[in-house]
Amino acid sequence: MKSADYLIIGGSAAGTTAAETIRNLKPDSSISIVTDENHEMYSRVSLPHYIRGKIDREQVFLRKPEYYSEKNINLLKNTKAKNLDSKNKVVELANGEQVQYGKLLISVGGYVVPLKIPGSDSKNIFYMRTVEDADAIIKASKQAKSAVIIGGGFIGLEFTSCFKVNGVSDVTLLVREDYYWKGKLDKKSAQVLSNTLKKNGITIETNEEADHFDYSNNQSVVVTKSGNKYQADVVGVGIGIRSDLSWLDGSGIKIDRAIVTNEYLETNVPDIYAAGDCAQFKDVIFEREHILGNWANATSQGNAVGKTMALTSPKAPEGQAGQRTVFETASSYSINFFDGSCTFIGVADEDYADEIIVRGSVENHKMTRIFVKTINNVMRVVGATVINSTPDVAPLTVAVKSKVDISQYKDELANAGFDLKNLTL
Ligand SMILES: Cc1cc2nc3c(=O)[nH]c(=O)nc-3n(C[C@H](O)[C@H](O)[C@H](O)COP(=O)(O)OP(=O)(O)OC[C@H]3O[C@@H](n4cnc5c(N)ncnc54)[C@H](O)[C@@H]3O)c2cc1C
Repeated sequence: MKSADYLIIGGSAAGTTAAETIRNLKPDSSISIVTDENHEMYSRVSLPHYIRGKIDREQVFLRKPEYYSEKNINLLKNTKAKNLDSKNKVVELANGEQVQYGKLLISVGGYVVPLKIPGSDSKNIFYMRTVEDADAIIKASKQAKSAVIIGGGFIGLEFTSCFKVNGVSDVTLLVREDYYWKGKLDKKSAQVLSNTLKKNGITIETNEEADHFDYSNNQSVVVTKSGNKYQADVVGVGIGIRSDLSWLDGSGIKIDRAIVTNEYLETNVPDIYAAGDCAQFKDVIFEREHILGNWANATSQGNAVGKTMALTSPKAPEGQAGQRTVFETASSYSINFFDGSCTFIGVADEDYADEIIVRGSVENHKMTRIFVKTINNVMRVVGATVINSTPDVAPLTVAVKSKVDISQYKDELANAGFDLKNLTL
């Protein structure tokens, strides 16, 4: 049986960052990363840039093979953790190997949620998560004239410009709701975003839900529940991600919507931690349980949990032994599409905020919503959605992170002339 002082399942943002943090603090320890992908760490964030031809394929990769040997990190590629025996501290892999661990980090992110409607196994239907997906999207869209995108959200938005830039002339986005990105954006913000898409040649069809695909002569027709038909040489699907935690069945680890952790990213089982997209952590900034799906969060969590794992192990560096790091951040997720941009900062959740203050207008093609909540008697900015107003992003991110009292400025926030930097001066 193999063994590792630190065993990490998932070698992406959270897992690799944790391994590197541990290596810095514990030079003599053994560290293994298990990944079911056949690659060293690469950037999912860069995949749309690669598809759009802005960067080369090799620029997607963040670590070279020799890096792992230099850092003495054992990377087990192309195999999957398939069972956890938490009592005996053993992870069983799909290739038949077993690995005994001292401490275990679960950083398995999420897989795409597959579209399950008749015909959805057609070969011209694409998802966007891996380098292989990106290769396939480039190849198919270069030969396509028409595309349909199913699913709003960030991936749907990425698909719009990825298809267009690769020469697809006719791109249609099908939206189930009565406006784009309902549930995350209000109607006006969605209108600003939709106007940018329309201006760049994207057709948006609302109240349209794909029912099935008809596929013949290398072309599929998306038939919606309302009976309308949309021709598509290629189809892009972005309907969410979901962690596969089935291999943890029987391990005793508490799982709710994701793996439940405290503020140190410790699970309820000793010596087992979770970080990144698969962690439902106790968020001390917003004082609630939280799952985040973004790169900055995954790397920050990898860093925090790596410190805790290293420093609570035997032979921790003198003066730091036993220290645990509280994970504390307010992250944001931004994308640029055509000449527009869209950013979500902190908790932009209508049910969570006390009040939402709006800056900008549809006419000016900019819209920022600022989510305000009083926590422990302090009126704070807890989140924001920012469409086509990039200068608002940095000061609002700082305001969310610094938890400052903004009560004296609250009435000014709606005024587009008010400099948001004042919030944290
Ligand atoms: C196309 C795309 C664009 C994005 N753009 C942005 C962006 O602009 N900004 C932003 O902040 N975020 C973006 N994201 C989200 C960001 O990439 C994720 O939040 C981030 O990758 C999460 O990192 P992670 O380490 O938690 O998990 P992941 O990156 O999901 O990695 C988890 C790894 O674990 C592997 N794995 C899963 N189960 C097992 C198992 N049982 N055994 C072994 N290995 C396993 C997976 O295959 C994967 O390699 C984007 C995501 C995608 C797909």
